[in-house]
Amino acid sequence: MNKHLSQLIEIANLDKEIDSFEPRIKEAKKELNCIEEEEESLKHEVEELESASRDISLSIAKNENHLEDLSLKLEEIANKAKLIKTEKESKALSLEEELAKEQITFANEEIARLNTLIESKKDSIDTLKEKINTLQIHQKEIAQKVEAEVEQVKEEQKKVFTQKELLVSKMDQKIISFYEKIRKWAKNTSVVPITRQACGGCFIRINDKIYSDVIRSDDIITCPHCGRILYFQEENA
Ligand SMILES: [Zn+2]
Repeated sequence: MNKHLSQLIEIANLDKEIDSFEPRIKEAKKELNCIEEEEESLKHEVEELESASRDISLSIAKNENHLEDLSLKLEEIANKAKLIKTEKESKALSLEEELAKEQITFANEEIARLNTLIESKKDSIDTLKEKINTLQIHQKEIAQKVEAEVEQVKEEQKKVFTQKELLVSKMDQKIISFYEKIRKWAKNTSVVPITRQACGGCFIRINDKIYSDVIRSDDIITCPHCGRILYFQEENA
């Protein structure tokens, strides 16, 4: 085979290999990303619970203020009671007292209910925080594993890069830039074999003249339909 063509095939294979590293790095980081996403969503849940707890605390404070007002009112009623002269006045005052007492009962019940609610939110927050802790420990372990994996992939990547650089330095630079131009659009199918007399990139049939040129392989030949670089490969039966 023509030396330039075999170099191009080799370069194309190295480029393919280089391209295969990024997905491997992504794959390695996938588990880590999952854990990070889970952690984010747990933290978000905690924030929501904390914000709900703050709202409940405000409601409790409001009810406590209301209780203070009501106990002042009871004192007032007690003072007024000393000055009562008629039965009508006494009745009105006792109605007022009853109402205030009812409101006190209601406020106390409401505070109790809110306290129970806030306790349950606290429990949920504690459970979530424990989960986050466990997750963070797990995350550290995974991160170490991923780092080692990524390091290894990058090491391999570097080797292939060096191999490519070395090869490129030995090649005809015009041919390399011709290949790079095709690679811009054809990516990893820039240099393709002919199979069953069809281009391995666009799959359109190659005429006999070009087919025999490719088989002879004296020159770099491109597909007349798509422009990819063609080479001949013995086909298995
Ligand atoms: Zn083609």
